[in-house]
Formats: sequence, C-alpha cells, structure tokens
Amino acid sequence: ALILGIETSCDETACAVLDGSGAIRAEKLASQIADHAPFGGVVPEIAARAHLDILPAMVGAALREAGVSAGNLAAIAATAGPGLIGGLIVGANFAKGMAIATGAPFFAINHLEAHALTARLPGLDVSVPEFPYLLLLVSGGHTALIAVEGVGRYCRLGTTLDDAAGEAFDKVAKLLGLPYPGGPALERLAAEGDAARFALPRPMLGRPGCDFSFSGLKTAVAQRVAATPPGALSRSFAADLAASFQRAVVEAMADRLGRALAMMPGCTAVVVAGGVAANGAIRSALANVAARDGRSLIAPPLRLCTDNAVMVAWAAIERMRAGSPSDPLAAPCRPRWMLNCAA
Ligand code: ATP
Ligand code: MG
Ligand code: FE
Repeated sequence: ALILGIETSCDETACAVLDGSGAIRAEKLASQIADHAPFGGVVPEIAARAHLDILPAMVGAALREAGVSAGNLAAIAATAGPGLIGGLIVGANFAKGMAIATGAPFFAINHLEAHALTARLPGLDVSVPEFPYLLLLVSGGHTALIAVEGVGRYCRLGTTLDDAAGEAFDKVAKLLGLPYPGGPALERLAAEGDAARFALPRPMLGRPGCDFSFSGLKTAVAQRVAATPPGALSRSFAADLAASFQRAVVEAMADRLGRALAMMPGCTAVVVAGGVAANGAIRSALANVAARDGRSLIAPPLRLCTDNAVMVAWAAIERMRAGSPSDPLAAPCRPRWMLNCAA
C-alpha cells in the first residue's frame, strides 16, 4: 500500500510516496526561497502560483520514481492547514482531485500534527520517542511547545505572543544587513561575535507559563542599530550584536523548555522541529535542559525538521493505524488550525 503526501502550506512545494510501513519510496522538494528573496519574506500570492506551477510535474515524477500509478495509491494526503491559504488550496485541491479520479481516500493533514509525528518515522537515525513526548516547533511561521500524548492527542502548552522564532532571526538578520532567509547567516556571523557585549532583554524569562515573545528583543536590536552612527556599524559590531541576540534567544528558549518539562513529568523525550532547530547554539542549550531533567533530545534529520511531504504522508499512515477515518472531500483548508488540548 503506497501513500502520497503533499505539502504546500508555506514556501516549500513537496510531495512524497511512502509505503505502509513508513519506508520512503520517493521524496521531492522545491524551495521557493529564490522567488521570495527579493521581497525579504514569503509573498503569499507568489507562493500559491509557484505551488501550482511546480506540483503537477513533481507528483508525476514522484509516482514514477516510486513505481506506482495514481490509480494504485492506497491514500492521498495533503496539508490542509495551518498555513497560507492560497498554497493550502492548491495542494489540498490537487489531492482531492486525485482522490476523486482514483477513488483513493483523502486525508486533510494538520501541518503541526505532521511535524509532531515525524520523529516516529521508522528508519531514522534517532531513537523513536515514546508517548507522551514534548515537541518544540521553531520555524519561520510557528513557535510552539506541544505535548504529544498520542496520535490525535495533542495539547499546546505555549506559543509565541508575537513573532515566530525564525521570523525574529530573519528580521534581526535584515537589520544587520544579511540576506534573506537570515537565520543561517546570522548564526555564522554570531560565531565570530562577543555575546556578552550587548545587554539585550530575555523575553519572558522567569515568567509563568510556556509562551514566547520575540518582538521586544527584535526592537531592542533595532534600537541599538539606530543609535549607532553609520561609521561604527562595523562587521565586529554586527557580529557582537548577532551573538548577543542569539544568546538572548537561547536563554529564553531554554527557560520556556524547562517550564514545559516541569508540566510533563511523564515525558521522556523532547523532539525538536522547524528550521530554527538547525541552530547549533539552540540545539546544545536545549540538549542541556533536557539532560538536566533526565530527558533526551531527539532531532530528526534537518530535511525532515523543515517543511517536507514525507511527514504529511506519515501523519496519514499514523492516523490510519490509529483507526482514524479519512476526511470528506468537503474538508476545508484552514489558515489557522490549532492543536487543542483534550477537554
Ligand atoms: P513553517 O513555519 O510553515 O514550518 P518555514 O518555511 O517558515 O515554514 P522552516 O523552513 O522550517 O520554516 O524554517 C525556516 C526558518 O528557520 C527561517 O526563519 C530561517 O531563518 C530559520 N533558520 C534556518 N536555519 C537557522 C539557523 N541556523 N539559526 C536560526 N534560524 C535558522
Ligand atoms: Mg520553509
Ligand atoms: Fe512547518
């Protein structure tokens, strides 16, 4: 039984074919970073049109690679939210069209659920987390701490009150004159800087709960830049500011993770996902917090931490295994779609 997954919720067009055990038979991904870079961020209308351009041929190629015809697929899954509505409509309606044409069941997948279950994919070079575990999702569009209690059973413990973590990296990188997406470039610049030079705020540090906030920190960086005469905006100034910013984010995240773990005494593992999880300083700080508390930190390979379609097909497989029915073709796309705690 082969399952097709489609992901179009943001700026990655992706599809994948998995067999029922979760083995990957085909995996395709096209990043639109170059399309959006001139605008310094993802432009929703450009993203939706690019998905539409890329997806049909990409799905065809994936099916050929997997050696399956559309008519023989056991299920067709697409991300139906949360995300940019135009892209969601392109991917979900493509999947629904295929489901109508082939009679295969359709699964409308929650993007956050897909990120949450990725670490359970068999064959990864990481230990498979047992339920319940804690997911820290830190990407360009999402910042969330989610208790993963089982398939279909999630509870959001915290989220950001303003900017997403990756968004903060990208905005600060822009202030420092780095190209979009700025996260990786900022990390490289920070490596040459002195993190103790600038006293920046540690958002939410010590506050109750598990929510994040990044806009105040970003504003503090902007004020530092604005207060500095152009002649003094040297590379070492930028590197010190990048390092100071990164340290503030690291400390804030470590604090939030510690609080979430305290709320989940039965949890054995912390799973990270999202592009920001590529950051080495963040990773090692999170690993320290987890270890201090006797939990392990599990980081799936980066290509599966960022947006991809393997996780979408896998989420459908997990749902089928858990006995969850497929979704009606009338299932809507949902730009906002929270994983709510059980009552
Ligand atoms: P979504 O939020 O829908 O999952 P996205 O495309 O915004 O999608 P990802 O592709 O998971 O998110 O991650 C991209 C984000 O990760 C960008 O904001 C980027 O700057 C950030 N990022 C990538 N590498 C690093 C790094 N080494 N340090 C900090 N941030 C990073
Ligand atoms: Mg992306
Ligand atoms: Fe994502």
